[in-house]
Amino acid sequence: MILAAICLSDLQTPHILGGSMIVAIDGPAASGKSTVAKTLATRIGMHYLDTGAMYRSVALEALARGISLDDESAMGELARSVRIDFAYEGDAAIATTVMLNGRDVSADIRTPRIDDAVSVAARNKAVRSAMVKRQREIASTSDTVMEGRDIGTVVFPDADVKVFLTASADERARRRHVELSERGVETAADRVREGLVNRDHADSSRETAPLRPAEDAIQLDTTGMTIHDVVAAIAALVDDAR
Ligand code: C5P
Repeated sequence: MILAAICLSDLQTPHILGGSMIVAIDGPAASGKSTVAKTLATRIGMHYLDTGAMYRSVALEALARGISLDDESAMGELARSVRIDFAYEGDAAIATTVMLNGRDVSADIRTPRIDDAVSVAARNKAVRSAMVKRQREIASTSDTVMEGRDIGTVVFPDADVKVFLTASADERARRRHVELSERGVETAADRVREGLVNRDHADSSRETAPLRPAEDAIQLDTTGMTIHDVVAAIAALVDDAR
């Protein structure tokens, strides 16, 4: 059986500024994590890892194979056998292409259908254990900005910097609606908000690795902040930690 794998080895390595440093960025859906984490990683010269893309890929594959998301053992087996790679496009420093068993699924994992399915896949203990194992392996080789739900609490409880991003549900729904429209995915604004709130509830109330801030995480409400301000605030925390 092939273990879940993410190959960063063939990727262009951004400037690593020494030591293996982890910057954990957690928070609810559409709180700005991806944009902030990517911008920050580019600015401070670290790898970027989108852990949500991994859970999304597992959900996508389960739906494609007709595996019930509730089937604990089949989902665990799937998560251990699936191959997920992140690849850079051209000279970009940030890996944006997600490959699932050799196929580019970057767009397929970001649809309302996967938004609705992913939390069920992600509450499975065996799925989480396969993903967390790989996340730790990947980050052990280079300084990494990781975004997710449980990075500061479970994946790297000793992370050098831990940030928990929040924003009001209205603001998050507005951001996600704009993002979906820009990608040509038309969904009613109300439906987007409802989906986010439901997903946050599922992620926060699950038994294994629920979404919550680590006790020592710095919490940032980004509702009235620009991306630039959020990135600058976290970059200052990274400077302090170095
Ligand atoms: O970050 P993103 O919205 O792409 O995450 C999709 C889903 O993956 C989350 O709603 C959550 O169910 C799951 N996830 C998780 N743990 C992580 C990252 C994502 O459970 N570290």
